[in-house]
Parts: sequence; C-alpha cells; structure tokens
Amino acid sequence: MPTPKLRVAICGGGIGGLALAVALSKYSNIQIDVYEAAEQFKEIGAGITMRERTWKILEHLGLSKDLSKVTNTPPDGLPGIGFEFRRADRADGFQFHLYTTPYGNVLFHRAHFLDIFVNHLPTGVAHFGKRLLSYEDDKGNSQVKLKFADGSQSTCDLLVGCDGLRSIVRKQMYDQAPFKEPALKDVAEPVWSGWVAYRALVPADRIRRANGGKEIRAMTHPMMYCGKDKHIVSYPISQGRIVNVVGFVFYPEAEGKAFNGPWVTECDGAEIIKHFAGWEQEVQELLRHVDNATLWAIHHLRPLPMYTSGRVALLGDAAHAMTPHQGAGAGQAIEDAFVLAALLGDPAITVHTLWKALSAYESIRLPFANRVLRESAVSGKMYEFNSIFKDKYTSLGPAIDAQWSWSMESTPEEEVERALKRMRGLEVKHKL
Ligand SMILES: Cc1cc2nc3c(=O)[nH]c(=O)nc-3n(C[C@H](O)[C@H](O)[C@H](O)COP(=O)(O)OP(=O)(O)OC[C@H]3O[C@@H](n4cnc5c(N)ncnc54)[C@H](O)[C@@H]3O)c2cc1C
Repeated sequence: MPTPKLRVAICGGGIGGLALAVALSKYSNIQIDVYEAAEQFKEIGAGITMRERTWKILEHLGLSKDLSKVTNTPPDGLPGIGFEFRRADRADGFQFHLYTTPYGNVLFHRAHFLDIFVNHLPTGVAHFGKRLLSYEDDKGNSQVKLKFADGSQSTCDLLVGCDGLRSIVRKQMYDQAPFKEPALKDVAEPVWSGWVAYRALVPADRIRRANGGKEIRAMTHPMMYCGKDKHIVSYPISQGRIVNVVGFVFYPEAEGKAFNGPWVTECDGAEIIKHFAGWEQEVQELLRHVDNATLWAIHHLRPLPMYTSGRVALLGDAAHAMTPHQGAGAGQAIEDAFVLAALLGDPAITVHTLWKALSAYESIRLPFANRVLRESAVSGKMYEFNSIFKDKYTSLGPAIDAQWSWSMESTPEEEVERALKRMRGLEVKHKL
C-alpha cells in the first residue's frame, strides 16, 4: 500500500470488529490492523438472528451472497415470521401474537456467520494473541500508542475499541475522561440485568425421532414461549438441522445489582428443565433433549454519554452492550461499522480532520444505539408480562411490535447520509 491516509487499529475481532475491517477494506488508502486477544477468531456455539435493516448492510458489504448459503433460509424480501408469541407457562398454551416483518428473521449459527466475515478479510490484517492492555493518546505526535499483554507495542492514527461487554478501551476512556460529574465514570461498568440465560443447541433429528417424525414449531420458525418472569427464545439454524434454545429467567430483585460469580458457566440440561416445569407440552418436547447448556448472567451497559474521545472510538458491545431481547446487539455493531467506515472513507477525512468523522459518528450512532439498548430491556419485560400491558394480550401484541419501530424509521443508508451531512457541516476546528 502507498502511504495510507489513516492507520486504523481495531481492538477485538468479534462481529463488530470484523464488520468494521470488512467495511474499511473497501478503501484502499486506509490501513487496517485487527488485534484479537484470542489465538483465532471464534464465536460460541449458539444461534443469532438478523433482520432486514442489518441484511441491507450485509448486502452493501458484499457478504449477503455467502451468508445466504449458511443461513437457515435465505431471505427473499417477502414478509416473514419475526416471532410467534405463545403463552406457554401452562399446560394449555396458546398463541397470543404473531410478529411479522419484511424478510422475517434471518437465522444463523454464530460460527458460520462469523466465518463469512473472516473469509472476506483482506490478508495480513489479523494479529492474534494480541490482548490490548492499555493505550496512550499521544497528542504531541498525533497518534495512539498501544501496549499488548505479550509485551509488544504498536501505533495507529485511530483506535476503535471493538472489545465487547468488558471493554478495556471503554474502561480507560472513561477513567481518563475529565467528567465534571464523577459518577459518569461508573457508567462504564456493566450491570446485571437481573436475567440469566440458559443457551443450548438441540439436534432437530433427535426431537423428530422422539415425536414419531412430528415437527414442533421451533423447528420451523422463530418462537417466543412466554411466561411470568421467564421466557424461551427458540428457532432453527443450519438449514433446520439444529434448534437453538435460550431460556431466560428473571430475578426482579437483582436488576442493576452486582452479580457474584463467573458470568458464564456450564450446566446440565436438568437445570433448565427444572425452571420450565409445568410449561406446555411443546416446551417439554424441546427441553428434554438439552444435554448441556451454558448459563449466562446477562449484563448490559447503562446508556453511555460518549462513544469517542480524542483518537479513540467505541463500537459494538464496547459502546452499547444490551440485553438480547430484541436480537439487535450484533446488528447494531454492524451498523456502527457501516456508518464509521463511510465517514472514515470520505475523501475529506485525513489524520488532521479525523475529529470530524468521530464527532459525526458519535452524534448519529450514540442516540440511536442507546435507544435500542433501552427498548431491548423493555421488550424483555413485555415477554414476561411485567410491562404496563401485563397479560392484556390485545394491547401487548401491538406494543411488542412497536418496540421494534426504530428499525423501520430510517434506513442504514439514510443514517450514513445523515452522518456525512453532519460531518460536512462541522467547520469549527476542534483539537484532538
Ligand atoms: C443470549 C444472547 C443472544 C443474542 N442474540 C442476538 C441476536 O439474535 N442478534 C443480534 O444482533 N445480537 C444478539 N446478541 C448480541 C450479540 O451477541 C452481541 O451484541 C455481539 O456479539 C457483540 O459483538 P462485538 O464484536 O461488539 O463484541 P464481542 O463478540 O464480545 O467481541 C469482542 C472481541 O474482542 C476480543 N477482545 C476482548 N478484549 C480484548 C482485548 N483487550 N484486546 C484484544 N481483543 C480483545 C474478544 O476476544 C472478542 O473476539 C445476543 C447476545 C446474547 C447474550
């Protein structure tokens, strides 16, 4: 590469970091380095859903063709089932709402989803075993110095923290921020949402065999089995060969408190079965095949007041880790990447004008993603009849749909346009 106009260091190679790397790879004058703590890119064995809004971005990034090959059913642009909602915490369960949405929910095995991003990375940009310990925004030399756990160091013009829920970049950014209100520093710490989630994968054939060849709903489309203080999200992945199961249990008194113990542990299937005893037959038919699960204490961030500082930006869960009740965290990470890459790639942006791109990124993405973060937690309460709608099904159903209205109020392309316009309107020189 001839001298690049910008050297961007991406800390963390999860969905957010890799989406940014792929999006930036369209600009031949931007140098990209992805520093990943692990020895390889990896995702957990679980499902993930995307909706139309994110799918459109994936099309722009040139990934949709390959992703279509690994999705459960390739989207055809027609409306499809987002989720079927059932009152399921009783023997006589029933459907109380059907959420349909353009494209339906596009369903993936996480590992297959991430693989497509990895396959589209330019060669030589990935650096493994590089756990970032700290950074120094060196204003004198207009660069950021990076220090890694293996003793190595590097520099860049822009550091993007894509290092997830427990982001070290966010911690340092907030520790060093000259907030007038010291309590703002605490916002950088994730809090326990009060939910735990049991995550498991079940081979579809096993359910089929045990049921005399009969399919259950979760083998054909996304299901939300709802009950008081608990719910189960389940849907097919890997061309119907696997059923993804996530059982949520809410502890109201624990919301916002510290979680004592490891945030992720292994457990056996009996534990999840115990929590959903007495639920409708279909739930029993699903859960009895769970051998092993992982138990997650679901943590999230409170809405952050800033996503950027100096030559450092936050992206994905590092900026807005949210409860998973709208299946939107990864989609929002991808949207961060789409907007930030368009700003950085603009010909007007150089090391000297970087502040404009970062300022526009924050002003567009922060209110948007923080809103999704808030709505996600509200949605979770709705699924468990703990919202103001309680179990008044006729008003609860439309209210659940309305929670996703943010996804239809604009398109990602319009958000990019808004961001570029905002950036071009920024005239006052602001020293990084
Ligand atoms: C139960 C559950 C279900 C979900 N379902 C959905 C869904 O259906 N749809 C959806 O859109 N979202 C969903 N999400 C949210 C989604 O998983 C996350 O929002 C998304 O994976 C975040 O990606 P990320 O790249 O920002 O962070 P991460 O995936 O956490 O990646 C961070 C990366 O940074 C690396 N790293 C960490 N620290 C360092 C360091 N110091 N130096 C270098 N590297 C580092 C890590 O090893 C990792 O590779 C769900 C979440 C949960 C918990």
